[in-house]
Amino acid sequence: MNVVSQLIGGNWSEGASGRTVTVFDPSSGEPVSTVPVSADTDVTEAVRAARNAAPGWAATAPAARATALRAAADSVERATGELAALMHAEMGKPEAEAADSIAAGIGTLRQYAELGPVHRGRTLAGDEPAIDLMAYVPRGVVAVITPWNDPVAVACGLLGAALVTGNTVVHKPSERTPATGHRLVALLAPHFPDAVLSLVSGDAPVGAALAAADVDVVAHVGSTATGRAIAAACARTGAKPLLENGGSDPLIIDAGVDPGWAAAQAATGAFANSGQICVAVERIYAHRDIAGAFLAALTAEAATWATRIGPLVDTRLRDAVHGQVAAAVTAGAQPLAGATVPDGPGAFYPPTVLADCTDDMPIMRDETFGPVAPVLTVDSFDEALKRAADSPYGLAATVLTPSMSHAQRAWRTLPTGTVKINAVFGGAPGGAAHPRRASGHGFGYGPELLDEFTATKAVHIEAPPNGW
Ligand code: NAD
Repeated sequence: MNVVSQLIGGNWSEGASGRTVTVFDPSSGEPVSTVPVSADTDVTEAVRAARNAAPGWAATAPAARATALRAAADSVERATGELAALMHAEMGKPEAEAADSIAAGIGTLRQYAELGPVHRGRTLAGDEPAIDLMAYVPRGVVAVITPWNDPVAVACGLLGAALVTGNTVVHKPSERTPATGHRLVALLAPHFPDAVLSLVSGDAPVGAALAAADVDVVAHVGSTATGRAIAAACARTGAKPLLENGGSDPLIIDAGVDPGWAAAQAATGAFANSGQICVAVERIYAHRDIAGAFLAALTAEAATWATRIGPLVDTRLRDAVHGQVAAAVTAGAQPLAGATVPDGPGAFYPPTVLADCTDDMPIMRDETFGPVAPVLTVDSFDEALKRAADSPYGLAATVLTPSMSHAQRAWRTLPTGTVKINAVFGGAPGGAAHPRRASGHGFGYGPELLDEFTATKAVHIEAPPNGW
């Protein structure tokens, strides 16, 4: 059993609330981690320690901050196997895939170690000898509140960018992956002065206490409902919210594409990580010309994924996923694969394909966060674009098309932060994400995340009256 503790001002201790949370292995249902929950007083103490440490860390040379981050990345890399085993035990991701996502996190830490020292402002020449400087300064204390579905990579991005730009951080990892979060902080924190990186542990009330505390930025990756609660807390305190939240990403399959290739893309988008990816394919619009062949190929893909898919994170999520699937079937959707809760231990759910879906079904409108590919057949590319755009979310969208003009129209018109043409996943190193509407606000990664964690100070300098 993994036992987690909190790190406040350089000291490891148990949370003072007297409450604990137990995490169950999603493959076996056996208990795997126990988390002593931080009390409100622990959160206040962690924020105070971070506030006290902030001036010293802000005054540390960016190159020295980057050196610390680089060494921290090396420590995480050496512990990849251990972290992958913890991720597998706590959230079910197969260990090899967990190691890949940890490698992505390490890459992000190193990227921010390179970018931090070269992050720059600009100067403006006024009337000689005046000059204006637009200088970046750290914002102060950053709360980093993260989810369970990609716990190391997501935390590495926010922690790396916040620390290298001279902020101190109080981090609360998800209560679903507390031992993974605890181990990550134990690897990172020794490379920084005491209280530059603190850890509080526990569930939603701990996150809420941190979001309402005396911090300057609350960076949250997680559900839209939580993001809205955090935005409300920030409105009361004046902290800046940085929100990367849920999505209902559409996949458009245009006429003229190879149905087998489109099915492989759709399956990867909908079933990878058992559908528990913020930018998973959540709804599919298939052109009538190829819909039949595409659905047959997607059903065959689902059979191959069934043998290698991991569990969902817990039975609560499985109940929610199956609830949406069952409601869709009751409303007329045709289950072509999966759609049943398997017997046996754990929180497994089969890759599921639904045909004849309609826009009003929750499986098409809401985020599902499970291995489900709901398909709606359309008569034209224009109809697909219109239906894809009709969503409260604005995270990402994918279009598979042989037509350059359709591709151009898609990226210009779809109201999402990211548009992918002819690949459900991918993106150049250093790329950014800028979600909209219910999917969040602010840059989630990329060089622009350094801007989010810094404030621009405009400085106007003139010479004294006697000249210079
Ligand atoms: P969640 O919002 O329930 O939990 C995330 C974190 O927020 C946890 O640490 C949790 O304890 C904390 N929290 C919960 N309630 C809180 C409150 N009222 N105030 C402050 N903190 C609170 O999300 P989750 O279920 O862990 O993660 C799944 C969600 O995350 C999905 O919606 C997914 O789309 C989203 N996600 C988005 C991105 C992105 O980049 N847009 C990336 C990964 C996951």
